[in-house]
Order: sequence, then C-alpha cells, then structure tokens
Amino acid sequence: MKLFFGIAFFGLCVLSGFSQAKTFRVLAFYSTNVEQDHVDFAMQAIPFFQSMAERDHFTFLATSNWNDLNPATLKDYQVVLWLNEFPATQAQRKAFADYMEHGGAWMGFHVSGWMDSRETWPWFADFLGTMFSGNSWPPMPATLMIDDRSHPATRGMPKSFVSPDNEWYSWQPSPRNNPDIKVLITLAPSNYPLGFKDTLGGGDVPVAWTNKKYKMVYTNMGHGARILSDETQNRFFENALLWLGGRN
Ligand code: ZN
Repeated sequence: MKLFFGIAFFGLCVLSGFSQAKTFRVLAFYSTNVEQDHVDFAMQAIPFFQSMAERDHFTFLATSNWNDLNPATLKDYQVVLWLNEFPATQAQRKAFADYMEHGGAWMGFHVSGWMDSRETWPWFADFLGTMFSGNSWPPMPATLMIDDRSHPATRGMPKSFVSPDNEWYSWQPSPRNNPDIKVLITLAPSNYPLGFKDTLGGGDVPVAWTNKKYKMVYTNMGHGARILSDETQNRFFENALLWLGGRN
C-alpha cells in the first residue's frame, strides 16, 4: 500500500509538472587559447557547473567551438554561458543576438563583457549596458556589497562578503546610470585604491548586474584559479543560473 501511494504520488508530481522538477539545458562556451588566468577559470568552472547540474537537475554541456553559437544549436538550450571569451564572427554574434531577442538567457563572466570600442559590436554594448573602461592589477580579493538582497540571484546572501582574487574592471558610464540595468553587486568603497600596477581609484564600480530587457546576468568575477573558492560567491553563481533557467 505504501509503495502504491509512493508511486501514485510520484505520478502526480510528474503530471502536475512540479516546478521543482522544471529542468533546463545550459551550454557553456569557453576558449583554451586565451590568457592563462582566463583558461584556469574555465577549467574550474566546467566541473563546478557540472556538479551543480547534477545537484539541481539541469543539463550542462561545454564547448570550445564558438561556431556552436548558431540557431540550430541554440534552439536546444535555455541558457548560454560565456566563461572566458566572446564571439568573434558576425555569424556568431547575430545568432547570439537573435537568441537573446527571442527569450534566450545568458550569464557572462569577466572578460566576456570586455569590449573597448562600441563600434566593435553596438548591439552588445546596449545589451551589456555599459563599456569597459579600466582594470585593476594584480588580481586581488575585494569586499563586495549586495545592492538588492531580494533579487532571486542574490537572495539569502549577506550584505557584503569578500570575493577571492580577481582582476576588477571599471565601466564607463556606470551601468547604474542606465535605466535598463539593475545592479546586483558593487565594489565596496573600502577597497580603494584597488591594485598596484593598474589601480582603480574609486567611484561607483558595479561587478554584477542584469539588463531588465533580457534574461541575463553579467558578473565581473572570472579571472584566475581562486574565483570558485568562496561559498557565498558560489551561491550567487548558483542562484543566478537557476533564476536564468526559470526556477524562480
Ligand atoms: Zn582577466
């Protein structure tokens, strides 16, 4: 009898499409011929997201072939990650823009948001909501402040935490000035001056945000081998990906 009820309950869950069981497919793009610290991040991020996929019941695949940014491949995935690079060809860029304009989701790390001229790809500049302006060096830890702890990507996180060694970028203008952008996490003023060779002297420097016109999260963390060593920060990556996958 117990078994019967167990089976019946399981069947009910399947039929009712329990939101917990809602699954999604993630395709992560990475490169191995880029800056070593960026390769190191990708090599850690891939098993990190594979473990997350098992725990949270979604499908995760990684590819270093950026030509997989094409309509036929993208239609099978609900979320795309750029771990350590960005598309180089017009065809890849167009496929990605079409995907995002039609309900696709994206999480980009660190150098994936780097572009030093708007002319390179104007659509992406509008999508990201800002432009790269400068960077700190060497990689250092930094105190980060959560701007909105009620957002699904930051829910349950403390007001601030120390993020492991990273190369931090600054942006011009601040994404916060863009009405389409919701800033999620910002460098705390106590970090400044940040860096020795290249120094961020101050100002408003968001490190994670979403463009409300899309299903997207950009996060500046993603340089080097220590990014995934902090539980709090990892919770943000997990929350953000589950949100993009439609879990919240
Ligand atoms: Zn970097």
